Amino acid sequence: MDIDLSNLENLGSKREIEAEVEFDDLDFQQRKVQIPELLKLNLVIYRGDKSFIFNGHIRGNFSLQCSRCLDDFLLEINEEVDKEVLLKDIKDLHHFDLNELLRPYLFLAVPIKPLCDEECEGLCPECGQNLNEGDCDCQVEDLDPRMAKLKDLYDKKD
Ligand SMILES: [Zn+2]
Ligand SMILES: [Zn+2]
Repeated sequence: MDIDLSNLENLGSKREIEAEVEFDDLDFQQRKVQIPELLKLNLVIYRGDKSFIFNGHIRGNFSLQCSRCLDDFLLEINEEVDKEVLLKDIKDLHHFDLNELLRPYLFLAVPIKPLCDEECEGLCPECGQNLNEGDCDCQVEDLDPRMAKLKDLYDKKD
């Protein structure tokens, strides 16, 4: 999304922007982060002495793959935007690319280990069944030694 900053000439002048912005999917550490819908942007742009200051929020949903069960899920994001851009770094005041300014904030919103739910049960290591959808018939050995001792006790009682 291009915006025109040329009318913000005077120190202290400001402009508010409320918009829905389209973004391309992100490539993040070899993972695809899909942005299935427009993101909502609320932004105030202030004219400083030698810069513009961008302050606001970007909100919406990412579609990510859960790192445990591998299902796709929607993650709600809400990132604060706070950025100063020097006048000398702006090539064209009439066509300032907001997406370029905002994209780094989208990367910040991507979790290192995405989970569809904190309690996600993941996949069975034996058969690959999604354990959120129900248990499988695999006998997964209990590797906790304390539990093994308890089991011994019970076995002796019999
Ligand atoms: Zn999951
Ligand atoms: Zn299984």
